[in-house]
Amino acid sequence: MHQYHIWTIGCQMNKAESERLGSFFEQLGYQATDTAEKASIIVLNSCVVRQNAENRVINKLSALKALKRTNPDITLAVTGCLVNSEVDQLKESFPHVDHFFKPGDYPQWLERPDLEPILPRHPSPTTFVPIIQGCDNFCSYCIVPYRRGRERSRPVAEIACEVKELVRRGVKGVTLLGQNVDSYGHDLPDKPDLADLLQELNAIDGLARISFLTNHPKDMSSRLIEAVAHLEKVCEQISLPVQSGDNDILKAMRRGYTVEHFRQLITEIRSKIPGVALSTDVIVGFPSESEPQFQRTANLLTELRFDTVHIAVYSPRSGTAAAKEFEDNIPPAEKKERLNKIEQLQENIATEINAQLSGKTVEVLVEGKKKGKWQGRTRSGKLMFFSNNSDCLGQLMKIRIEKTSPWSLQGKVELK
Ligand code: SF4
Repeated sequence: MHQYHIWTIGCQMNKAESERLGSFFEQLGYQATDTAEKASIIVLNSCVVRQNAENRVINKLSALKALKRTNPDITLAVTGCLVNSEVDQLKESFPHVDHFFKPGDYPQWLERPDLEPILPRHPSPTTFVPIIQGCDNFCSYCIVPYRRGRERSRPVAEIACEVKELVRRGVKGVTLLGQNVDSYGHDLPDKPDLADLLQELNAIDGLARISFLTNHPKDMSSRLIEAVAHLEKVCEQISLPVQSGDNDILKAMRRGYTVEHFRQLITEIRSKIPGVALSTDVIVGFPSESEPQFQRTANLLTELRFDTVHIAVYSPRSGTAAAKEFEDNIPPAEKKERLNKIEQLQENIATEINAQLSGKTVEVLVEGKKKGKWQGRTRSGKLMFFSNNSDCLGQLMKIRIEKTSPWSLQGKVELK
């Protein structure tokens, strides 16, 4: 039997796309393999959001050169954020690659209208569903809009149809994906927004949970917050990247909001959605970020107390406004120190937040097994481990929290 190999790095969008591609190859009769050498089709789903991710893609492509030389019949394709509008240039640099295609743009050799929609065949109980591709924001440090292009929303009916089919295949929860889900729908004829889409999906029988990421503080609306508060299947978790706690840095990042606006948004979310878990992203070491400016970020995180903080160290991406306009002038050792400080700060906050959950009983959607224990997520997105001898995969279980850490929870099945 012919085999396919998909190598994926980067965000959940890439993971969702790779799952769908895999299902497509399986419909064609191919079998998945973890080894590129055994495959007759190899797809690299690339990420270039940071320089080291791009380096990994380039190294992988170089490594596959020899394989392609020994076996020229292998089909080698590249998708993801490496594929920009200059495909001719890519073809010149990597002549051993047969196909380059943009994320979500299936090329002709993949188009088979006789086959089922490209959906994961054996989806996990919680599955990613892309709802909008691309980004129109052009934050000064970010390469994504140049690579993924302008925003393109999928129609509500198409997404609803896909989610119904996923539920038929056993899915209990969906995570709607987009670089900026708050922009969803503005490019569609009736201009639906994310709240409209959530309302539609909330009515699907058999679906238990809906979540979404990522939001943008500039675009998140009160209407969406109300929808999360009132639709029973929409989970109490919001991902809202702040990036910096200093207004001048936010301006240089071209984020389009102020710290004051962000703070107000968090207050509104917390007042309308009791028990909501909030996560954010920050970048440390942005060009010319002074010690007091960095401290403002640390202070904001201390004040707002997020459940999770994703921390990135600034690195210039060629082609972005920040790389053109600013000197990358924070020494690497200083960046590392700022990263460590935020990590330590957040570890302490997450320890305290999770400790308060001890003794509570929560609903967990079981997603798999790890090291002999079942693992799943609470409605607020917290990772939970517990033991049970029966098959719990895909079940919604009541678990009593017995142990907590900054990263996860451990519990026992609550007996009725
Ligand atoms: S919102 Fe900003 S950071 Fe996010 S993908 Fe768009 S340009 Fe990049």
